[in-house]
Amino acid sequence: MDQWDVAVIGAGPAGLTAACRAAVRGRKTLVLEKNRKPGVKILISGGGHCNLTHAADARGIVKAFRAQGRFLHSALAAFSPQQLVELMESEGVPMTVLPNGKILPANGRATDVLAALMRRVARRQVSSDAREGAHC
Ligand SMILES: Cc1cc2nc3c(=O)[nH]c(=O)nc-3n(C[C@H](O)[C@H](O)[C@H](O)COP(=O)(O)OP(=O)(O)OC[C@H]3O[C@@H](n4cnc5c(N)ncnc54)[C@H](O)[C@@H]3O)c2cc1C
Repeated sequence: MDQWDVAVIGAGPAGLTAACRAAVRGRKTLVLEKNRKPGVKILISGGGHCNLTHAADARGIVKAFRAQGRFLHSALAAFSPQQLVELMESEGVPMTVLPNGKILPANGRATDVLAALMRRVARRQVSSDAREGAHC
């Protein structure tokens, strides 16, 4: 492990995003995933459509969680729903907003969301290790 500055446990959306961030900051980063493939939950989220955020500003998201939403303030200030949409669109995944406010890939494919995260990881040369040899 001496050759890594950062080891991220879990290649879900949080781990993949954190790994990219660490790599952008110049840290040699390793992602460890116990499943054979990364991002498995992304693929089942929203019934395969992955409604990955909601058409609301940070305040609106916090409010939806009532009193428990307070802990979201700092995370949403650092990375807002709008920034997530911009990130996906910058990776060539256009988003659409449903009448109920759900935001998902315009083509309804969760696979495109995972592919976008994996492209970012690959570009930053984040290394990976996963049980039975899956690679990010
Ligand atoms: C059926 C279903 C539908 C959903 N629909 C939506 C939706 O439409 N919209 C939405 O926003 N959210 C949805 N969610 C929730 C969404 O999946 C989670 O919010 C999201 O996956 C959380 O991301 P995460 O990176 O924090 O965790 P996870 O996606 O759970 O990723 C954690 C990763 O860590 C790995 N891991 C855990 N322990 C270890 C270990 N010891 N060593 C190595 N690897 C480890 C896991 O295998 C996993 O890959 C849904 C969830 C489910 C189950």
